[in-house]
Amino acid sequence: MTSKLRSRVRKRARDCCEYCLIPLRYDALPGQLDHIVATQHGGQTRYANLAFACGHCNSHKGPNVGGIDPVSESLVPLFNPRAQRWAQHFRYEQAQLIGLTASGRATIMVLAMNHPRRVSLRQDLLDAELFWESFRSL
Ligand SMILES: [Zn+2]
Repeated sequence: MTSKLRSRVRKRARDCCEYCLIPLRYDALPGQLDHIVATQHGGQTRYANLAFACGHCNSHKGPNVGGIDPVSESLVPLFNPRAQRWAQHFRYEQAQLIGLTASGRATIMVLAMNHPRRVSLRQDLLDAELFWESFRSL
């Protein structure tokens, strides 16, 4: 992967995780490039298949492309930041992420997006008024 491609993906995401929206400059781990469709499923390393993600979201997503919606108990595709709009699938209630759709709920589960440490970090950023900048162009 070229540094130019990495830089373009990061810039497109405004340096925030495209799943949980955390501004990466406030996270302990550097941002990572996520293959939305993992290479082992035939996904390619190209702009249209890449997302910028925090280390937490990316490490939990791994090669997954789907998950179980805890409401319907159906297997559904994970949220795709290139094909779908974040605000149609998620919303925040303070630091707690809420899934609005089956894909949103499954993505929260698979990526462990409401892990207590992540909720705590988001609450700290909210308290310092450092989080909502991620929502500007949703
Ligand atoms: Zn994230």
